[in-house]
Amino acid sequence: MSDPVFPAIAIIGTGLIGASIARAAAEYDAAGSISLYDASDDVRRRAAGLGLGDVADTLEAAVAEADCVLLCVPVGALAAVAAAAVPYMKTGAILTDVGSVKGEAAAALMAADDGRVHIIPGHPIAGTEQSGPEAGFATLFRDAWHILTPGPRTDEAYLAAVDGLTRFWQALGSKVETMDTARHDRVLAITSHLPHLIAFNIVATAFDMETVEEGEVVKYSAGGFRDFTRIAASDPVMWRDVFLTNKEAVLECLGRFSEDLAVLQRAIRWGDGDMLMREFTRARTIRKAIIDAGQDSSAVNFGRNPHLETETDEA
Ligand code: NAP
Repeated sequence: MSDPVFPAIAIIGTGLIGASIARAAAEYDAAGSISLYDASDDVRRRAAGLGLGDVADTLEAAVAEADCVLLCVPVGALAAVAAAAVPYMKTGAILTDVGSVKGEAAAALMAADDGRVHIIPGHPIAGTEQSGPEAGFATLFRDAWHILTPGPRTDEAYLAAVDGLTRFWQALGSKVETMDTARHDRVLAITSHLPHLIAFNIVATAFDMETVEEGEVVKYSAGGFRDFTRIAASDPVMWRDVFLTNKEAVLECLGRFSEDLAVLQRAIRWGDGDMLMREFTRARTIRKAIIDAGQDSSAVNFGRNPHLETETDEA
């Protein structure tokens, strides 16, 4: 067995992401010891019961011996948790996070910098619509991208810390990339944040339509709508914080989206089939590119219908 990347890690916030990191770090020998803390007594009890690691009674106790502290709390809680954790961390330890928005998250972490620790914000592009410690699983990060947004420091100790954190996420199965926070937030606004907003909205619209009985929505839910309901079941606190903290980029994408939607609306109104064909054909090429890049399965309906074994026909 090779040496773990970090002798000791601390995970603050033991929901879906925190519990998955704990399970993956144990499974793939990425950490010698794992201490955990969550603000909720109930979550701490459940995390202990699941055997995710040593559950501490206080944040201070959880971070005291850690070589790397991973903040896995909602983005809106990062500033307070980072400020509370840093004074109790070892000199030379790493402070990172997993927040889905990087501009505000990085600012929150950097504000806690006392010059003794290495602050390296990050975001695993992996997740599910579930939350809580029971939802965590070891393979969540396998083959997923992990984006690091390191600060401006170029000293040897900081670069070594970035290298250590990169190796940690690689040990969990991730492919690690670095980029600046603004670029991260623009890219994620269109690939993750806007799709969630659309899902929340389409589900709300369907339930509000007075001609559609709730029973009928559930009974006749077709694949497309069902996929939206899965996304819309995501944690409301996490997503509230994402939209409040990535406001500019989301509003920019939403503006473009609304313009493009109006073009489709007009094509439907005027019976412009050529226009609809052009747009739908272009959209199909993006799906193919995602499958070709290994980012999704080509199995029919994501492989959820075992009786359909043929691959999607991309012709
Ligand atoms: P989650 O399952 O709801 O877990 C978050 C945990 O943090 C909860 O147990 C919560 O406790 C706890 N918490 C909240 N405030 C805290 C504080 N001040 N101190 C200590 N613990 C605190 O959420 P998650 O899905 O793991 O998301 C965590 C982070 O990962 C978020 O920043 C999110 O943006 C990011 N992320 C999520 C996904 C995803 O798909 N879910 C993917 C990538 C990144 P309470 O429930 O009692 O408030």
